[in-house]
Amino acid sequence: MNGLEICPFIRDLPKVELHVHIEGTLTPALRWKLALRNNIKLPYATFEELIDSYKVTYNHRKEVNGDDGRPTFLEAYFAGCQVLITEDDFYDLGMEYLSRCAEMNVRYCEPFLDTQAHIERGIPASTVLNGFLHAQQDGAKKYGVKSNWIFCFLRDRPLQEGLDAYAAARPWARLSDGTGKGLFHAVGLAANEFESPPLRFEKGFRIAKKDGLHVTLHCDVDQKDAAEHVREAIFDVCSGQGTERIDHGLNVLDQPDLVPALNQRGIGLTLCPHAYHRRQSTETLFPKIKKLIEENVKLCINSDDPTYMHDVWIDGNMQKVYTYCALSKADMVRLGKNGVEMCWADEQTKKELMVELDQVDVSE
Ligand SMILES: [Zn+2]
Repeated sequence: MNGLEICPFIRDLPKVELHVHIEGTLTPALRWKLALRNNIKLPYATFEELIDSYKVTYNHRKEVNGDDGRPTFLEAYFAGCQVLITEDDFYDLGMEYLSRCAEMNVRYCEPFLDTQAHIERGIPASTVLNGFLHAQQDGAKKYGVKSNWIFCFLRDRPLQEGLDAYAAARPWARLSDGTGKGLFHAVGLAANEFESPPLRFEKGFRIAKKDGLHVTLHCDVDQKDAAEHVREAIFDVCSGQGTERIDHGLNVLDQPDLVPALNQRGIGLTLCPHAYHRRQSTETLFPKIKKLIEENVKLCINSDDPTYMHDVWIDGNMQKVYTYCALSKADMVRLGKNGVEMCWADEQTKKELMVELDQVDVSE
């Protein structure tokens, strides 16, 4: 279940990543290094013990399945965040991800960030945002990986807290009046979606749209009311004019009018197959993804939180779809082009990405 060997075609394919939570790329090695640097005691005596802690499959949801004592994915994820303290820490996190992108031939990405989880720990928003801003600038120069980031409201926190966090982060946005530092150009959602429908954050989306930012809505798979959340994202947020993308959204298949609605409105899905593979069998999951492709839903393949999902990164997620959906090389290039069409890079960058994808040899 955890990973497949990555073939040269997938390895070399030019990639765009649109659904990755930056703290979900914090490697055990960087976590260990930052814990030492910041004098933070981890509950692991050795690096090997820390590595072993990642072998768990975090596929349990207390709010849905009850508490059986096992840690959930989000508990592991937020435990990892504890080592991120200084601007340099956030910079290193951003640079490590962008360097990894270069190794996987990810040519452009739009990582999710949030400040709320860090403000809560006493870290100023400016520390988080300046660290990522400098990584954005240096990552483009050093690794040739361009990025535009997405500011997330935390789904399980009060609306007002999210609005305050957005107001504080706004100087780091790329605003339509030409001001702002240019780190993020969109808003989205992250954290636990249980009983927290997208419309709860309507006010935040409206403010961000007025600022000229894009909107993407995270709709977790098989969460309670999952299809209803997708329905709201499509039809109701900002009077049906809100979201341009849906992150995950696999539950569009649960109700017959949702796939046609996606296609009519040109809303794409940023899928992360390995995240679902933790909870669904190969025989259940991949026919669903194939069905979406056959129904011409615009979708692209991403990694979500690779270090907490068995070290399966975007290349591993693509390999799974390539193998288990039995797609052709041309199909995979098509998915890559979907990512380019769905991304919010400038027109010149998009054009260059399309040229790279057109040059891929798709002969079988
Ligand atoms: Zn996600």
